[in-house]
Amino acid sequence: MLLINESKNLSSEILRLKNFGEKINFVPTMGNLHAGHLSLVREAKKDKHICLVSIFVNPLQFNNSNDYKKYPRTEELDRSLLSKEKVDLLYLPNLELVSKDNFTYSLGDISKKLCGIDRKGHFQGVAKVIIKFLRIINPHCIYLGEKDFQQTLIIKKIVKDLNFNTKVVVVPTVRDKNKIALSSRNKILGKKLVLAQLIPSILSQIIKELNNGDFNLSRIDELKESIKKKGIDKVNYLEILKERNLNKPDKIFSYCRVFISVTINSVRLIDNMGIKKKVRLLGEKYFEVN
Ligand code: AMP
Repeated sequence: MLLINESKNLSSEILRLKNFGEKINFVPTMGNLHAGHLSLVREAKKDKHICLVSIFVNPLQFNNSNDYKKYPRTEELDRSLLSKEKVDLLYLPNLELVSKDNFTYSLGDISKKLCGIDRKGHFQGVAKVIIKFLRIINPHCIYLGEKDFQQTLIIKKIVKDLNFNTKVVVVPTVRDKNKIALSSRNKILGKKLVLAQLIPSILSQIIKELNNGDFNLSRIDELKESIKKKGIDKVNYLEILKERNLNKPDKIFSYCRVFISVTINSVRLIDNMGIKKKVRLLGEKYFEVN
């Protein structure tokens, strides 16, 4: 596995590989790798193209400097995991990557919902780095986790708006035995990790109740209160939204997902699950599945 820090070195290596007719499959990460990240890597390796992984804890996407400082960094371990997976290239940019090129990119409505509401500048920070990566690498495919569903929609928009010739591949969320979505932040929770089990359980509960029929919007507030009583410090959001654009469901049946973000011990966690059947909202109150 070849390690590269400088973007100009990465550019010349990519050019060299492309001159040999190689295609690049790219997996961007912030490191502290777990089985979720590795499932992206395994997908990226399936078609035998060059597999490039980046590890960069992007300061621009943290709206809280303490959160940035606390973010777990385990470079040695990450390197050994990636080399076991036979990753070809590991890009470890330094902070210079985000010190120049002050451009802004219009993210549109999707970035104003869910995590965009209380993480000001987060998606703008993600976009800035992803655009730089796409420009340098121009990958054949980019692999993203469904856990960060809103982020996948934003990156799909970037690829489309800026005419990158890259396919966005979204990989299902990897969960632990208690159905908690794997996340680098889970480790910071220590003993409070047990509370994170409430996250998948409330998502499954909502989907089950929707499928049983007669699901009223007020039920969402009841469920929010119930998990707060069980020890979750804050429910940042719990919403059923359309999968395509994160709009609220309306009277036309459409594919939707349930999205949640909670804070436990100052650690912000997110998760989401898809609803297999189409959903509609009647009288702004009653959900119906098709
Ligand atoms: P991160 O290092 O948290 O920025 O994540 C890097 C990539 O891994 C993103 O595309 C995430 O959506 C994805 N990812 C993170 N956790 C999981 C998981 N539990 N299952 C699948 N993909 C994940």
